[in-house]
Formats: sequence, structure tokens, C-alpha cells
Amino acid sequence: MPDDGCVFCDILEDREEADRLHEDDRVVAFRDINPQAPVHFLVIPRDHIPTVNDLVPEDADLVGHMVTVAQNLAAEQGVADDGYRLVVNCGKDSGQEVFHLHLHCLAGRPLDWPPG
Ligand code: AMP
Repeated sequence: MPDDGCVFCDILEDREEADRLHEDDRVVAFRDINPQAPVHFLVIPRDHIPTVNDLVPEDADLVGHMVTVAQNLAAEQGVADDGYRLVVNCGKDSGQEVFHLHLHCLAGRPLDWPPG
């Protein structure tokens, strides 16, 4: 069920443009509009799940699929060997800005650790 006012639901419903890299019946992946690394894309579920806190045990396959899609896209983007970072922000202190679950994949440069 799309959520009014959710930018990622707007992308899913084709009301907002996105540079899509992958789509299937459960997830869509597209490039981040404000990339923090040479490769930066997001994998989102078609279901409007606001945060990790809203996941239920039945979502385990979905979350696994999100990671598999990110893994495949990282290979397609040519960054699998040098490595990449998968990030999911959850809530205020993490800096989450869009409250529709999303997996970031960042790659293409050495990434600092720990993050800020
Ligand atoms: P987060 O801080 O984890 O909620 O990250 C949200 C991400 O969504 C940020 O990296 C934004 O640059 C990205 N973003 C926001 N709006 C769009 C959009 N319309 N298309 C692509 N990426 C977006």
C-alpha cells in the first residue's frame, strides 16, 4: 500500500523519476539522487515499510532478497572485488531521512570507518 507523501512510494508509482537499475515483484533499485560515493544506489521494497523497527519475522525473505539484489548489482557495477558497504539507517539518531526502508550500497572509493 503506497504511503501519501513518501518520495520512494512516488518512485514506485512512477510519480517521481529515478535512475532504475533493477526491478522485480518485491523490490526496486535506483541510483541515489545525492551520491556519497562513485557508486551509490538504493534497494527498496515495494511495500511501504517505514523502518527496520517495522520489520516482522515474515519479512526475512524480503530482506534477504534486498541483500541479494544489492550483491548482484554491485557485481554488475564492477565494484564487487574492491568491495562495497551496505547500510540501513533506522530512525533519528542514524540520520534516516526517508521513512521507507532502503538498503544503501556505497562503493567506488575507500570508505572511512567508523562512519560519522
Ligand atoms: P537515509 O538518510 O538513509 O534515509 O537516506 C535517504 C537517501 O535517499 C539519501 O541518500 C537521499 O539522497 C536519497 N534520496 C532522497 N530522495 C531521492 C530520490 N528522489 N531519488 C533518489 N534518491 C533519493
